[in-house]
Amino acid sequence: MPGIWIYSEDSAVARQLLTAGLELKNAMKQPVAVLTLSGEEAQTFIDAGADKVYVVKGSNPWPESYANAVADLLTKEQAGVLLVGGTMRGKDLAAKVAASLKAGLVTDALRVACAGDGIETTRLVYGGLAVRTETVTLPALVTIPPRTFAEAAVQGTGQGEVVIVEVANDDNRVSVTNVCPIVRQGADIAAADRIVCVGRGLSKKEDLTMVEALAAAVGAEIGCTRGISEDYRWLPNDRYIGISGQKVKPELYIGLGISGQVQHVAGIRDAKVIVAVDSNEKAPIFEAADYGIVGDLYEVVPLLTKAMQK
Ligand SMILES: Cc1cc2nc3c(=O)[nH]c(=O)nc-3n(C[C@H](O)[C@H](O)[C@H](O)COP(=O)(O)OP(=O)(O)OC[C@H]3O[C@@H](n4cnc5c(N)ncnc54)[C@H](O)[C@@H]3O)c2cc1C
Repeated sequence: MPGIWIYSEDSAVARQLLTAGLELKNAMKQPVAVLTLSGEEAQTFIDAGADKVYVVKGSNPWPESYANAVADLLTKEQAGVLLVGGTMRGKDLAAKVAASLKAGLVTDALRVACAGDGIETTRLVYGGLAVRTETVTLPALVTIPPRTFAEAAVQGTGQGEVVIVEVANDDNRVSVTNVCPIVRQGADIAAADRIVCVGRGLSKKEDLTMVEALAAAVGAEIGCTRGISEDYRWLPNDRYIGISGQKVKPELYIGLGISGQVQHVAGIRDAKVIVAVDSNEKAPIFEAADYGIVGDLYEVVPLLTKAMQK
C-alpha cells in the first residue's frame, strides 16, 4: 500500500503518530497504514482512522530484528513515508530500515508536513538553540519523539483491513543469549506530570531526603542533572533529564540548584510551568523559568515544602 506508514512497538506512541499520519493523509491524499508486531490492538488503530493494519509476525519478540522484513514489506508495498516512534528501539529499527532502503531518515521531528514530492520536517538542533527545517524525498523515514502529538481519537467503528504478514527475523547474525530487565526505581519520569529536579547545587547525597520531602508534598517524581547521576551516582541514570537523558513534558518542573546549561534545558523546554531555585541570580535557568527564586536551596526548599503541605 503506497502512502503513509506508522510504526512503534509502543501502541500508545503508534496512536500519537496516527495523529500526524492522518494530517499527512489529508494533505497527500493517500491512505494510512499501521505496522505492528502484535495483532491485539489492530482494531483500535482502525477505529482511530487507519486504513490498513499490517500485523508482522516473526519468530522472536525483539522489534529491532524485524528491520529487513519491514524494509522488504515497505519496498513491496511502495510505501511513501514511514513515521517511527522515537523510542530507543524505534530509532534503532528506523536506522536499519533506512539503510536497507537507502532512504532518507530524519530523527526527532516535531512537525511533519507534505512538501511537493517529499516531506518537510522541523526539529531542534544545537541542543535546542535552533530549529531546522528539512525536506526529505520519498521514500523516507521520520522518527517522532513520544508525546509530540496527542493520541488519535477513536472515530467509531472503523472499516479498515487487517493483514497478517508472516516474516523471517534477521537473527542470523545476532542471537540474544540473555535478557536482564532494568529495574526502575519509581515511575517513568518521561511520563511524570510533576517533577522536582535536583542539580549540583545540592552538597551531599543525604540532602536528597529534603528534596524527597518536597517531591512528596507536590506529588512529584524526582529528576536530576547529568552530573548527579553520571558523576556522583546519587540517582539512577534514567532520572537525568536533558539532551542525552530523558526529555520530559510535565505540567510542573521545579529545578533546585541547577545552572540551566543548554544540554539540560533541551530536555525541559516542553514543561508547562518551570520554577527555578538557584543562588546565582545570573544562572541561565532563570531565562527558561516562568518563576524564579534567587536563594539558597537549603533555606528555600523547607519553606516550599511547608507551603505545599498546607
Ligand atoms: C555532550 C553533552 C551532553 C550533556 N547532556 C546533558 C544532559 O542530558 N543533561 C544534563 O543535565 N546535563 C548534560 N550535560 C552537562 C551540562 O552541560 C551541565 O554541565 C549540567 O547540566 C550542569 O548540571 P548542574 O546544573 O547540576 O550543575 P552546575 O552547572 O554546576 O550548576 C549548579 C548550580 O547550583 C547553584 N547552587 C550552588 N549551591 C546552591 C545552593 N546552596 N542553593 C541554590 N543554588 C545553588 C549554582 O549557582 C549553579 O547554578 C551534557 C554535557 C555535554 C558536553
